Amino acid sequence: MPHKFVYFFSPQKTEGNKDMKDLLGGKGANLAEMAGIGLPVPPGFTISTEVCNIFSQSGESLPAEVEEEIKTNLATLETIAGRKFGDPDNPLLVSVRSGAKFSMPGMMDTVLNLGLNDRTVEGLAKKAGRRFALDCYRRLLHMFGDVVMGVPKKKFEEILAEHKSRHGITQDAELDEAMLEAVIQDYKALIRKETGRDFPQAVHEQLAMAIRAVFKSWNNPRAITYRRLNHIPDDLGTAVNIQLMVFGNIGEKSATGVGFTRNPATGKKELYGEYLLNAQGEDVVAGIRTPSPLARLEIEMPEAYRQLKEITTNLERHYGDVQDFEFTIQDGQLYMLQTRNGKRTGMAAVKIAVDMVEEGLTTKEKALLQVEPDALNQLLHPIFVAEEKAKHEVLAKGLAASPGAAAGQAVFTAEEAVEWRKAGRKVILVRAETSPDDIHGMSSSQGILTATGGMTSHAAVVGRQMGKPAVVGCGAIRIEEEERCFFVKGKKYVEGDWISIDGSTGEVLAGEIKTQPSEIIQVIRGEKKPEESEIYGYFTKLLSWADERRKLGVRANADTPADAKMAFAFGAEGIGLARTEHMFFEKERLPFIKEMILSDTEEKRREALAKLLPFQRQDFYELFKEMHGHPVTIRTIDPPLHEFLPRREDLMVELAELRTKPRKNKKKIEEIEKLLARVNQLSEFNPMLGHRGCRLGISYPEIIEMQTQAIFEAVCQVIKEGEKVYPEIMIPLVGHVAELSHQKKIVDRVAAEVMARYGVKVDYSVGTMIEIPRAALTADKIAEEAEFFSFGTNDLTQTTYGLSRDDSGKFLNYYLAHGIWQDDPFETLDTEGVGELMRMAVERGRKTRPKLKIGICGVHGGDPRSIAFCHRIDMNYVSCSAYQVPIARLAAAQVNIGKKESDAD
Ligand code: ADP
Ligand code: MG
Ligand code: MG
Repeated sequence: MPHKFVYFFSPQKTEGNKDMKDLLGGKGANLAEMAGIGLPVPPGFTISTEVCNIFSQSGESLPAEVEEEIKTNLATLETIAGRKFGDPDNPLLVSVRSGAKFSMPGMMDTVLNLGLNDRTVEGLAKKAGRRFALDCYRRLLHMFGDVVMGVPKKKFEEILAEHKSRHGITQDAELDEAMLEAVIQDYKALIRKETGRDFPQAVHEQLAMAIRAVFKSWNNPRAITYRRLNHIPDDLGTAVNIQLMVFGNIGEKSATGVGFTRNPATGKKELYGEYLLNAQGEDVVAGIRTPSPLARLEIEMPEAYRQLKEITTNLERHYGDVQDFEFTIQDGQLYMLQTRNGKRTGMAAVKIAVDMVEEGLTTKEKALLQVEPDALNQLLHPIFVAEEKAKHEVLAKGLAASPGAAAGQAVFTAEEAVEWRKAGRKVILVRAETSPDDIHGMSSSQGILTATGGMTSHAAVVGRQMGKPAVVGCGAIRIEEEERCFFVKGKKYVEGDWISIDGSTGEVLAGEIKTQPSEIIQVIRGEKKPEESEIYGYFTKLLSWADERRKLGVRANADTPADAKMAFAFGAEGIGLARTEHMFFEKERLPFIKEMILSDTEEKRREALAKLLPFQRQDFYELFKEMHGHPVTIRTIDPPLHEFLPRREDLMVELAELRTKPRKNKKKIEEIEKLLARVNQLSEFNPMLGHRGCRLGISYPEIIEMQTQAIFEAVCQVIKEGEKVYPEIMIPLVGHVAELSHQKKIVDRVAAEVMARYGVKVDYSVGTMIEIPRAALTADKIAEEAEFFSFGTNDLTQTTYGLSRDDSGKFLNYYLAHGIWQDDPFETLDTEGVGELMRMAVERGRKTRPKLKIGICGVHGGDPRSIAFCHRIDMNYVSCSAYQVPIARLAAAQVNIGKKESDAD
């Protein structure tokens, strides 16, 4: 059998179906499907995406077989329609519609009423009225001139406007025959003037030109850019649909409209959409007239409405998902012109998925696949009340780093944020950029605004982790932290001025905009009863279905009892990473850690550490309590010591000031000099690759001893209170098994001492992070000591790429914009490189220790695509921020069910 390039669709004869989107594009596949189940679809045929590729590769020509198939299909269409293409007495008119697998702005627009010319227009006039025929003709000239011949749309619009104003009319519908004739003459003249040729009167030439224009548009720059940004392969190609015209503009019993089977914003079960009487296709979206809500159609055309309701209800059942559809009513007769799965908000997605299962319209598996994991984010963050937002001026736009809406008074230091918050005020922390010692200030703020930094800057990462709205890298604002003010649009904003930020759009607005809190968060925090929140009920139900269907465990990264409590409420099955150093940054503890660092003898260090011990023990105690017996992975100290000390430059400035009065400041000067000397000593050329992680634990074993003691004393205390704990001690930055053995020995020894002292037996394990390539490469050896692995993919990405995350901003945006890299490897796992190391580590580690537990605790643990990868290489769990736990639960279920590529339309 010869290769097939063209597929017919009609209720009588259909050659395609909904599963052929690769070949027929989304629009074509769904038209075929609708025709196939006997719905009133105007007949037509689809030229496949393969032809698009042949066309592009062959210097823009169509093979003779394709031309032949088009001819045959056109003949079939003529037979079914009982009309002939180009017949002056009884002309067949068609639409030419592009349609790729994924809907793509930037592709060619649709041409309607193709097949009209100076002679066929009179034939149409005799059958259906002259005014109507002329109206179709002027629409064809306009669309064909614009879309196929490249005459700017605006010029057609100007001509039309000029005619209307000349006759003192405002509506297109008021144009009479004589006026339309004049418009048509002007349109033709315009085309001639702009292109140097006449509008083609030969209908077959019209068709050939239109088909070629669709194929060509696949490679126009806008389409290429769109594909790049959305990870759509270039070789998919677009299909072309040629379809019999039906007319919504044939009188007052005709109409055209669009709709959804359920409300896409709220998820409510109602026919939702708009229509226009006596209009054609694009008029509804073009906003020429204000369309009416579909509810009105029930009154204006009850029979057509009843049919539409019935058909779309069936469509929803048939597809098992909300449908977004287009229809036209010609003289009371309803036609379906398009259907696809409807886009929806996160809120609607969750409600619809659950409702449709309970209505028996779909299975739990399919419903789980309908919800984009990232869309769950929208349910957790406060949002601006839309009418209120519209009243405020947008000052600037930065990167939408952490979603949600926040309003507060501008403050410029972390300390102020804390104090103002204590005084009951709401603040937005505004900084050039944030650093680890701003954490307490960030957590006291409603939101964070920074002038520099990218999507993975400190402010962005911590903002997401805390679930705080953040706008970062907002270059348009100039911050003067010293003066406590910032400038934007020539105006000065000082401490205490109200501003609002929208972390979902990146907007910074003037004044205080009212927000609505997320109901789910209120329930999680215990501020609202679960049974009082409808959406919370939906949310937990959907996630409970996800839990039944996933293999991958989901834990959270949590450093504080508050984080842990949140994580547990969101369904985390343990803590995958508790960073002990964050505990050191708290105000009352920093002096002791400084004291420890400044000590020159081990003895003095031990003294300082002894002061820190009770703090750490209490932190661990509370953390364990919150997790109710689930495993808690605690990482021993990781960052280089100088991170706990003031910056060198700051000390030098301070010193210079003090030295202006040397006698008075003598003691203070000595102190700062000592500090500075130590800072200089600790300073590194490349801290990322320096003295940190287990290297620190090996050179200062007393730190690890103290931490182990604190952990196990807390564990014993909890156990004595009759509760369960399962601690896992994790050693960071191991590259050589000997490093791990060294640290493990200390942990085991101190643990044994504490257990003996308390008379308690603790079940625990010691493992390591895999975050430098050498660890992955020697995973078989490391597994001899390690009882678990946890991939630290932030550092593993840095060290695999040889790239510092904090410096990547300088070129990364260029790389992404120009398609050098498809993704930011710090946001979504580089499965090809970093992932290969992970795969190797899993394999080698399990060769030594078949039951080795393996997880991930880098930021990738909250990214759905990376989660899917973790599932595929047979890891045991992912760990992400508390707020991402729901996302991870859903993503893990989806990959286990077998999520296909994201849904095409
Ligand atoms: P888009 O992808 O931009 O929605 P479409 O191909 O769906 O483009 O068509 C644009 C408009 O033209 C839609 O309102 C559609 O319903 C209408 N339309 C397309 N083909 C026909 C046809 N054969 N008869 C009547 N209206 C049509
Ligand atoms: Mg459409
Ligand atoms: Mg690390």
